[in-house]
Amino acid sequence: MSVNAVVDPNMLLEARVLKCLQRITTEPGGADVVSTEQVFTVVATSGVVRVFLDPQYIPMDAMEELAATMTPLVKSIPGVDRVIVKPRPQSVQLQNKLPGITHVVAIHSGKGGVGKSTVAVNLAVALAQQGLRTGLLDADIYGPSCPTMLGIQGRVESTADGRQIRPQQHHGVKIMSLGLLLPPGEALVWRGSLVEQGLSQLFADVDWGELDMLLVDLPPGTSDVHLAVARHAPLDGVLVVTAPGQVAVDDVRRGLEMYADIKVPCLGLIENMAGFRCRQCGAVGHVFGNNGGQDLAQEIGISLLARMPFDPVIAAQSDAGVPLLIGNPQSSSAAQFVQLAQHLNAHFKTVQTGAFVQ
Ligand code: ADP
Repeated sequence: MSVNAVVDPNMLLEARVLKCLQRITTEPGGADVVSTEQVFTVVATSGVVRVFLDPQYIPMDAMEELAATMTPLVKSIPGVDRVIVKPRPQSVQLQNKLPGITHVVAIHSGKGGVGKSTVAVNLAVALAQQGLRTGLLDADIYGPSCPTMLGIQGRVESTADGRQIRPQQHHGVKIMSLGLLLPPGEALVWRGSLVEQGLSQLFADVDWGELDMLLVDLPPGTSDVHLAVARHAPLDGVLVVTAPGQVAVDDVRRGLEMYADIKVPCLGLIENMAGFRCRQCGAVGHVFGNNGGQDLAQEIGISLLARMPFDPVIAAQSDAGVPLLIGNPQSSSAAQFVQLAQHLNAHFKTVQTGAFVQ
C-alpha cells in the first residue's frame, strides 16, 4: 500500500449519520432531531459512532427512549460497528466558548520529537489556505518551536490601547507562543500557578480577533499544562500525533483517557515519520513495518487520519522556517495536510451546523 493511499475511510460518516438521524422526530409532525438541535454533535472514529444529545432541548427522561430509537437506525449504516448515544459533554457547551473563536482543537502527542509541532504548523497553514480564519497557539511552553518553524523572529507588539498583545501573522495564520514573549528557557521553570497565569495570558490577553479555528500545540505527555489549557479554552477535540518507532499504545491511551476525563473527543490519529522517503527516487521504505498507525488506531478505537513519511525535505524546511505547505506545496506529504485540513473543516461543518458536506 502506498503511503498516500491512506485516507480516513470514515471521512464523511458523520454526515451520513446526521442525514439518517434527520428521519427521527420527537413529536408527531414536528421537525427532526437534527434541525431542532436535539442532536448536538456526532463523532465517528473507526466505526464507533458517538451521538451527543443536547439536554437543553431534550428532557433527561426522554433521552433513553431517543437513544433506543437512534441506535438501531445508525447501526444499519454501512461502516458502523458500534453506536453510543449520550448527553453532550459539558466542556463543549457553546456558552463557554472563547469570544470570537468558533473551534479550538488541541494537537497532542504522548512523546516529544514525533512531529507534533510540525503537524500543528502545517495543518494551520493548510486551514488558512482553505479560507479559514486560523490561529495557532503554541502552548508547548517547555519547548516552543512553532515560531521557528514559521520563520518568525522579533518580539510581539501591543494593541493600540495597550490592553492586549497582537499575535504575529504568517502565511495567513495568527500565531502566539511563549517563545515570542519570554527569553529562551524562562518557561522551563514554570510550575503550578505560573503555568496557569502564563496560559491564561496566551488565551485571554492576546487579540485573536475572529477565528474559525484555533489550534493549540500542547507539550508532549500529560501534565498540568494540559489541564490548564482545557480550563482556559473549551476544547472541541484533540488530534493525536504519533510516530511508528514510538507506537506506544500505553502513551496514547493515557493521553486519551485524560481527554475522556475532561470530556474532550478525540478526532483521530496522525502517524508521522511512517517510513522514510528517499531523497533521490521519492520511494518510501518502512523500517518499523507498514501498519503501525493503522493497528494502533484500531486498537484504541480512533480513526487514522493521515500518514506522513520521514521526509528530509520537511526537516530541512522546518529548520529554515518554511512550512512544507509553502516550501513544497506539490509534495505528497503536503497533500496529506491539505486532506487533513479538509477533514477537520468538514467534520465541524457537519457536526456543529448540521450542514452536510457532499
Ligand atoms: P514535537 O513537536 O513532537 O516535539 P517537532 O514537530 O518539533 O516534534 O519535530 C521534531 C523534529 O523532527 C523537527 O526537526 C522536525 O523538522 C522534524 N520532523 C517532523 N516531522 C518530520 C517528517 N515527517 N519528516 C522529517 N522530519 C520531520
